Amino acid sequence: MQHKEFKAESKRLLDMMINSIYTHKEIFLRELISNASDAIDKLYFKSLTDTSVGMGKDDFAITIAVDKDKKTVTVSDNGIGMTEEELENNLGTIAQSGSLAFKKENDLGEDVDIIGQFGVGFYSTFMVAKEVQVLSKAFGSDKAYLWKSDGVDGYTIEEAEKDTAGTVITMFLKDDTEDEKYSRYCDQFQIQSLVKKYSDYIRFPIRMEVEHTHYTEEGKDPEITREVETLNSMTPIWKRNKNELTEEDYNNFYTEKFMDYEPPVAHIHSKNEGLATYDALLYIPARAPFDYYSKDYEKGLQLYSSGVLIMDKCADLLPDWFSFVKGVVDSEDLSLNISRELLQQDRQLKIIAKNLEKSIKNELAKMLKNDREKYEKFYEVFGLQFKFGIYQSYGAANETLKDLLMFKSSFEDGKNVTLSEYVSRMKEGQEHIYYACGETKERIDMLPQMEKIKDKGIEVLYLTQDVDEFTLKVMINYDGKTFKSISDADVDLDTEEEKEELKKLDEENKDMFTFMQEAIKDKAKTVRLSKKLKTHPVCLSSDGGPISIEMEKVLNAMPQNDSNRVKAEKALEINPGHPIFEKLRSLYAEDKDTLTKYSKMLYDQALLIEGMNIDDPVEFANLVCELMTK
Ligand code: ADP
Repeated sequence: MQHKEFKAESKRLLDMMINSIYTHKEIFLRELISNASDAIDKLYFKSLTDTSVGMGKDDFAITIAVDKDKKTVTVSDNGIGMTEEELENNLGTIAQSGSLAFKKENDLGEDVDIIGQFGVGFYSTFMVAKEVQVLSKAFGSDKAYLWKSDGVDGYTIEEAEKDTAGTVITMFLKDDTEDEKYSRYCDQFQIQSLVKKYSDYIRFPIRMEVEHTHYTEEGKDPEITREVETLNSMTPIWKRNKNELTEEDYNNFYTEKFMDYEPPVAHIHSKNEGLATYDALLYIPARAPFDYYSKDYEKGLQLYSSGVLIMDKCADLLPDWFSFVKGVVDSEDLSLNISRELLQQDRQLKIIAKNLEKSIKNELAKMLKNDREKYEKFYEVFGLQFKFGIYQSYGAANETLKDLLMFKSSFEDGKNVTLSEYVSRMKEGQEHIYYACGETKERIDMLPQMEKIKDKGIEVLYLTQDVDEFTLKVMINYDGKTFKSISDADVDLDTEEEKEELKKLDEENKDMFTFMQEAIKDKAKTVRLSKKLKTHPVCLSSDGGPISIEMEKVLNAMPQNDSNRVKAEKALEINPGHPIFEKLRSLYAEDKDTLTKYSKMLYDQALLIEGMNIDDPVEFANLVCELMTK
């Protein structure tokens, strides 16, 4: 028999477990039962195609036994079992647990409750046990092995005796302390209630020999009988009737199954017959998993065929824009032995996916209508996904998502509004939905163009996320109303008269503007007057072309090589009502040298206001200094 150390990572997790002050030590039982159920699922699945298993659905069970004298709790299953190698690999190293990675990545202190946030599986036994023994025989193997560990000094594996395939896990409970009565886990009532609480929907019976005390006559010793009982109700929650289920039932199922410590914001329970027959129970989580906005995140729903799990994360059931949804789908239309490749083309599956998409959309629309606060909270977390959804689907998701979108708006100072709310408030004769881009609402409010448009009482959407403008460009319009950036050259808020006047003024100063444009060279295509400004001297406008100023900013901020850099066509616009305009005119008449310098400075100012870098900060600083010392 060989003694082995745990791998370093496992050791750290074990240390955390053993010394855990975690209050929910009781979850160890849930973890073991869930492992047992998975192991049975695997063998049951095999039994459907392999007659040598020699077992039917009713033969499978999980058995719990407690021994008050020895202070042990034993969980057994007649599932697939583990080979010597599997014992070594599965229990000797930390398996899939994301806990450590998460902790490292986020540099969290020791006292953060990560055990509660992630399932930690088998290792959780060491929160309550001073020694754990795992006796296992893999299906198809003629040898059994015994794995033993006290959690601290590593583990041993030796050959052992076991008749049938499966696994028996025995925990030798820690000694009771002031704060923690570990012996309570030998109490049958405790076990019964833990199974009910955490494992009621396990599809296989969880059995235990239960002692009943009968008091017959006063003064006489009570009579004690023992009977094997099934502790769980087994019927999966999604198969049950909605009206038998409480909010708590739904929430408990979610938190256990999907390892979330926060209850979901909504659930959708649907039973369908017709083109496709299925039961589905979907959840909208309250928070995003830590890897949600990374490429490591895997979307998908659990897929069952008549109660048997066939895929843990069936991605084809969810469009990307609803990738945050968790849940289960159970359909008798799907074959058990269907391969992943065939499943992708399955017609039934496609119909189910379409239906689910519709239900999710409707549920969210309902929430938006009936519980605005809840929806806004949800949208804070997952709204970005909708914007990406529209953009990445080249608009295919428009219909589904357009009414779920929200943007902050100048209406009521930065509150979230939907596009339909915006449209319902549009001024008479207003053709466009106006928006402005910037890092924050505050930055956007500082844009020179904002002042005037707000004065006119026109609502402006604040686009503060990088993807926002790309999304609107893909959408093109909402309800026939096109989107327009307040930085576009052709923003048109003026009367015909005002336009005429501006045109005339522009014409009169044409030569000066040409001179100024030459002074700043190819940085801006045109220099001209603008009616967009109220008190500010200058601003930049996107002067047509597919790329706006904001998109230039976003695209150029992405890692790339220089040859891919993009440039928006820009116009430098000057406020004819600002004293600077007169100053420029007199310089044009008397001092062209200074006008050249002023043109450069004004252009750089406009860039800075837009939140962009200026090409030559040294030149800019020198020009300002020159002016200061004049
Ligand atoms: P997880 O269940 O998250 O993978 P665990 O630490 O609980 O992590 O278990 C590690 C692995 O050990 C499981 O994935 C499974 O392969 C194996 N295992 C655990 N318990 C059993 C069991 N009762 N029967 C068969 N295999 C098991």
